[in-house]
Amino acid sequence: MAHSYHHAISSARKWGGTPDDYQAVHDWLDGSKLILADFRHRALRHHAEGCFAAEALFGTTIVNSTGRAVPVRLIAEQHIVEDLGRIPSFADWARCIRPEPWMGRVGQRLDGIAAEHAHKEIPKA
Ligand SMILES: [Zn+2]
Repeated sequence: MAHSYHHAISSARKWGGTPDDYQAVHDWLDGSKLILADFRHRALRHHAEGCFAAEALFGTTIVNSTGRAVPVRLIAEQHIVEDLGRIPSFADWARCIRPEPWMGRVGQRLDGIAAEHAHKEIPKA
């Protein structure tokens, strides 16, 4: 499994500047290793929506140390292609989740609370 630093080196080779210019984006993409230490951590951010989430977090572009503006989505795409060989959608990951009964459980208790309070007036402030 490539370390985020190695992805940052790859970004610097591709767009110029230093690995440090790109490290934060790659650290964020692989930050899901905090919750799952094997390759399945990638399901959280290594997909098309993850590229857009990186853009929302870091901005449309970052300006590297040579002054070049580099689109954040392209940086994220480079990372994901290096890890997976392509950019999957989240649906590609979700199809691999084996459904368990607890995942589709209806929140009966919560529904009961909602029904209990449905007839009450909401006090005006
Ligand atoms: Zn990764």
